[in-house]
Amino acid sequence: KLHNIVQETKGNIRVFCRCRPLSKVETSSGFKCVVDFDGANDGDIGIMNGGTTKKTFKFDRVYTPKDDQAEVYADASPLVTSVLDGYNVCIFAYGQTGTGKTFTMEGTERNRGVNYRTLEELFKIAEERKDTVTYNISVSVLEVYNEQIRDLLATSPSSKKLEIKQAGEGSHHVPGIVEAKVEDINEVWDALQTGSNSRAVGSNNVNEHSSRSHCMLCIMVRAKNLINGDCTRSKLWLVDLAGSERLAKTDAQGDRLKEAQNINRSLSALGDVISALASRSSHIPYRNSKLTHLLQDSLGGDSKALMFVQISPSDNDASETLSSLNFASRVR
Ligand code: ADP
Ligand code: MG
Repeated sequence: KLHNIVQETKGNIRVFCRCRPLSKVETSSGFKCVVDFDGANDGDIGIMNGGTTKKTFKFDRVYTPKDDQAEVYADASPLVTSVLDGYNVCIFAYGQTGTGKTFTMEGTERNRGVNYRTLEELFKIAEERKDTVTYNISVSVLEVYNEQIRDLLATSPSSKKLEIKQAGEGSHHVPGIVEAKVEDINEVWDALQTGSNSRAVGSNNVNEHSSRSHCMLCIMVRAKNLINGDCTRSKLWLVDLAGSERLAKTDAQGDRLKEAQNINRSLSALGDVISALASRSSHIPYRNSKLTHLLQDSLGGDSKALMFVQISPSDNDASETLSSLNFASRVR
């Protein structure tokens, strides 16, 4: 029995690898693409090393720079919509800063990402099922920075430290955070805007700040089956992780060092949790970081997880790319 449960768990963690295009600046600086996409249709991706040697990795999906937001979302969609059937789900984007984590999750106004498309589809399905199920959807937007949780939907900053509490079996929550009830996609868009605006508050460089914090959107779904009266609660986490790049030695001091240590700690805690799940360990170390503790209900058990490992094609980034691919294959 235990064996079966764990096998399911392993099968429930998927890894999709997405490579962004070479940027104009990279092209004009003479940087070359070192990623080999020949096996992309079979989930294989290769890294060229000095023209000949190659290291290859296998994932559930590989997206080339030509694959667009709709194609990426189409593969995530079945997972996302299973939250309406009562599953807890977690999707996160991992990778070096500048590889497209925010592009994949948030996207842009013209090229919407997973977050927006997810909510759009959830509302569409909820509408289709309205004669048999009533859905209540609410969202929270959090940031984890230096192992501290910040509520990005709070209208006034709380003086109390936000902590994670366990309400019952498999039910972790953060008392006091805003859960904004949303009725349609426009309300969601407003909430997401509020979230990203408050992210900027208190930091002099928004981009730098966002590359050093985890941005976490939680979608909570309450369903009432109108035929048999069953009620279920489930949640979907959509996470834009802090940049995974290693700290340059020259930067290794003061606040910057502390930030980097906290990022390392939470990303390696995430790796440890997922590999403990995959190797059927009896102890899953969720409590080692705020990130994994928050995600606890949506990692393991019968929940479903998807990781986007985002990479750069440029030879200039090859060593970070290798380290991200190694991290991701450990998880798989
Ligand atoms: P990260 O969040 O990982 O730091 P971003 O999402 O900010 O990276 O992406 C860095 C830049 O690359 C942005 O200008 C973004 O629009 C662009 N970009 C990322 N991925 C893609 C892609 N698949 N196609 C086109 N442009 C992309
Ligand atoms: Mg980003």
